[in-house]
Amino acid sequence: MQCSPSASLAKCSLSTSPVNGGGKESAMPHVNITGGCLCGALRYEAGTQTTVMGYCCCDDCQKVSGSGFIPFIRLPPGALKVSGEYRLNLKQQADGRNSDRYHCVKCASLVFGGAPGNPNGNTLYAGTLDDTAIFQPAMAIMTKFKPDWVLLPDGLKMFEGMPQ
Ligand SMILES: [Zn+2]
Ligand SMILES: [Zn+2]
Repeated sequence: MQCSPSASLAKCSLSTSPVNGGGKESAMPHVNITGGCLCGALRYEAGTQTTVMGYCCCDDCQKVSGSGFIPFIRLPPGALKVSGEYRLNLKQQADGRNSDRYHCVKCASLVFGGAPGNPNGNTLYAGTLDDTAIFQPAMAIMTKFKPDWVLLPDGLKMFEGMPQ
């Protein structure tokens, strides 16, 4: 992942780098992961493998989603197969790294992170799943940005910044 817990201006993209530990492995779904945008024009399937699932509470995720956090699912490289047109939303972080998030060109839903086919894997935003029960969060990250009105479930591994 991309955020630095030590830098107060660090932003999180959850999109272009793999997670290297810091949380337990989430339960593997046994069904093919499918989902898509609000209007149905941008669809994906992602096999059955995930790496980490959790909540990101960083202020970038709040702004881009219009919510208090984003529920994310990390996918291994090559897992994400996308159909339909998408638009890149690129945000440069304070340290110069880029966060790349992808939206449907028609309805503007935020659907996934990381360019399709990139070697670092991708992120799915769990609200886009066809079967939202696939999302089984194990952690919450960037909790120092969490608004008081976001109530996280018990049992999550909590990180004020990014997991090391
Ligand atoms: Zn974030
Ligand atoms: Zn759409």
